[in-house]
Amino acid sequence: MMSNKQTEGGNQMANFTIVTMPSGIMRIHKAGCADIKREEMRSFVDSGWTVEGPDVDAVVTSQLEAFHHQDQQFTENDFSVAPCCRR
Ligand SMILES: [Zn+2]
Repeated sequence: MMSNKQTEGGNQMANFTIVTMPSGIMRIHKAGCADIKREEMRSFVDSGWTVEGPDVDAVVTSQLEAFHHQDQQFTENDFSVAPCCRR
């Protein structure tokens, strides 16, 4: 079994939740962020999915790769990083 959970240089893995907004933009929050529920209630977005990664940039990269494998051509511009991820 391959494991990508081993980290080098002390990078800690974290969980991020990606919510698809009505505009089609995928907004990335830290998992458990209170804004996710707020955005769900305000705009009827679904609750999204959770991805593990060392940081939000790595999450965007891994999601783009996953979409590419599904022949879905998204770019970094299809993602929006919520402020909670930059703290
Ligand atoms: Zn957030």
